[in-house]
Amino acid sequence: MDCLFCKIIAGEIPSTKVYEDETVYAFKDISPMAKVHVLIIPKQHIDSMNDINSENSAVVAHIFEVAAELAKKLEIDKTGYRVVSNCGKDAGQTVFHLHFHLLGGEEMNPRMA
Ligand code: AMP
Ligand code: ZN
Repeated sequence: MDCLFCKIIAGEIPSTKVYEDETVYAFKDISPMAKVHVLIIPKQHIDSMNDINSENSAVVAHIFEVAAELAKKLEIDKTGYRVVSNCGKDAGQTVFHLHFHLLGGEEMNPRMA
């Protein structure tokens, strides 16, 4: 499958790894929107939020555990952070491999996506 994030997981495209386990990979966003901007993705290819279901939702729950761990590791747990997933055209999704943006390290626009 011709998917940028699958290639990143496979190591075919370089990334700055922040975390990895059996089912989840996290790396720095190439074009950060905040001082801390990490993408957390399932290793399993899922196109978007639209494709989360009872078969694959365990990895999504795990991603939120990882997000909380990374917030502590990156020292934004006390100052605050945002976890965002853009789904589809109106939200501006550009990569169709489910991903969660972990943003923090500075005050963010209340309406920022
Ligand atoms: P979205 O717009 O929600 O689909 O988010 C896609 C994100 O992937 C954007 O924030 C991009 O900056 C980021 N991105 C695209 N290519 C790369 C890459 N090669 N390495 C790291 N982040 C990337
Ligand atoms: Zn993929």
